[in-house]
Amino acid sequence: MKNSLIVQKYGGSSVANIDRIKNVARRIARYRNKGYRLVVVLSALGDTTDELLKLARRITSAPSEREIDMLISTGEQVSVSLLAMTLQRMAIGAISFTGGQVGIITDYSHTKARIIDVSADRIKKELRKDRVVVVAGFQGINPDHEITTLGRGGSDITAVALAKTLGAGICEIYTDVEGVYTADPRVVTDARKLSYVSYEEMLELASLGAQVMQARSIEIAKKFSIPLHIRSSFNNKTGTIISKEVKAMEEALISGVTVNKKEAKVTICDAPDKPGIAAVIFKEIAAKDINVDMIIQNVSRTGYTDLSFTVSVRELNRARQVMSDIVGKIGAKGVTYNRDIAKVSIVGVGMKTHSGVAAKVFETLASKGINIDMISTSEIKISCVINKKHADHAVRAIHRAFGLDRVRRA
Ligand code: ASP
Ligand code: MG
Repeated sequence: MKNSLIVQKYGGSSVANIDRIKNVARRIARYRNKGYRLVVVLSALGDTTDELLKLARRITSAPSEREIDMLISTGEQVSVSLLAMTLQRMAIGAISFTGGQVGIITDYSHTKARIIDVSADRIKKELRKDRVVVVAGFQGINPDHEITTLGRGGSDITAVALAKTLGAGICEIYTDVEGVYTADPRVVTDARKLSYVSYEEMLELASLGAQVMQARSIEIAKKFSIPLHIRSSFNNKTGTIISKEVKAMEEALISGVTVNKKEAKVTICDAPDKPGIAAVIFKEIAAKDINVDMIIQNVSRTGYTDLSFTVSVRELNRARQVMSDIVGKIGAKGVTYNRDIAKVSIVGVGMKTHSGVAAKVFETLASKGINIDMISTSEIKISCVINKKHADHAVRAIHRAFGLDRVRRA
């Protein structure tokens, strides 16, 4: 076997209870029998992380981030030890580790730390002893040996980072869906599973709300060309392979339609139209660590202009605080907030070489009487902000308009 090392990551739903952990152990046993060496990264059982966060909230609405990391990193320690025990009981050599134990070193930013180094010596040593190495996802330690976590969904990052450090042939991401779909199958009944998708497209799909993989983990996989295989832990079907763009991908115009209902729109009305206004606004927003997604500014005909941008609903309250200060500072008339928005996006590498995609999206929405509030585009993506109540309808219409229910992809 050319490269017999595989990194597998199992998400929370795949290890939600003891039966599912046993199911994971059986899969590992099958891979072992085929001669593979395995490093297995786990998430916490089911919704453990959310439950732990709820406990913290019962004590304070503003817990220290260091203590949050101490708390939520425990979830993964539970799952890895249980899986290692299960494997040992099946007479398979196995050992579990925390992120710190395997040398996952991060920066200092608690709850959204970035990995700066992975030594993985401990893992290599255990692999040489022919053991399955089970690593707690989502966590590391900073240079002061404090436990850090990598941001929600961060076990994917752990898996990809380990695949890179260990030179694994593939990183398999096990979840409760069979792969990446052309749209959310709960919304679009005739959505299809994609066999292949490029890193670039997957990055857009992930950050646009396709929720199968954590976006930053895909950036890392892309940077180091680590092939990913997203698949279900509940059956043996091939899922979706994420890799570099191949010819077949270029031929398919569009890979998917996504919807994000978790953004809110902030509009500053009648801000003076002069240099430096946008700079002031977004500097203050950035200083509060608030991520801005779309931005539009109207052409001013009066010396005043409106400026809108979207932020995650989770950060809306923080954005409000900043904005109420800024409005006075820059001499704008006021600021409004709208949570009833949804961002519908269409993604595909084929857009690079085809024209008319945007027009077709707009026509489709128009034909359904859906008004477009904001538009943004990139080389492989078109996003429209519309009223939230039309979101699902819009996704279905666009999915059909581009024939995603019909076209077979390679
Ligand atoms: N357990 C963590 C979370 O729920 C990490 C993960 O699942 O990847 O965010
Ligand atoms: Mg989870």
